[in-house]
Amino acid sequence: MLSQINGLSRHFTEDTLRAYLLNRSTRTDQGCLVVRGYGDRRGVYQKLGGRAWAHIAAYVVFVGGYDPALEVHHDCGVPDCIEPTHLRQLSHSDSCRERAQRPQCRNGHDREVDPATGRFRRVCRTCNREAQKRWRERQAAEVAEARAAFGRMRS
Ligand SMILES: [Zn+2]
Ligand SMILES: [Zn+2]
Repeated sequence: MLSQINGLSRHFTEDTLRAYLLNRSTRTDQGCLVVRGYGDRRGVYQKLGGRAWAHIAAYVVFVGGYDPALEVHHDCGVPDCIEPTHLRQLSHSDSCRERAQRPQCRNGHDREVDPATGRFRRVCRTCNREAQKRWRERQAAEVAEARAAFGRMRS
């Protein structure tokens, strides 16, 4: 039902909306169907067809059975993807949990499972260790610089 798509321009039929979405999309090597909405920001949710969210419009016409009470979640983690097999409806809290529970941190390290909760640890140990190492190196450089300045003062 197109009336479920908030902000969608009224002149669309299901068929013309499907064609419109496909015309604006490109298949990526990862199998995503990335859609081009208004504006030039990519990698974010896209608006088109009036002021409708592309992933919601795609869910309605390609997947079907859209429930406006639930969110449309991207299994691929690509917000501007409209590939029907990458879209899934989840409640808001499930959607947040899915987002928080990616198996890798944003730097691509495998995350560790906390045995107490059975969920991934929030802080990535590798990133943490690297940040500490950078901090120690900075400290050491500052100390060395201070020593050198002190040496110049004394001579
Ligand atoms: Zn995708
Ligand atoms: Zn990391």
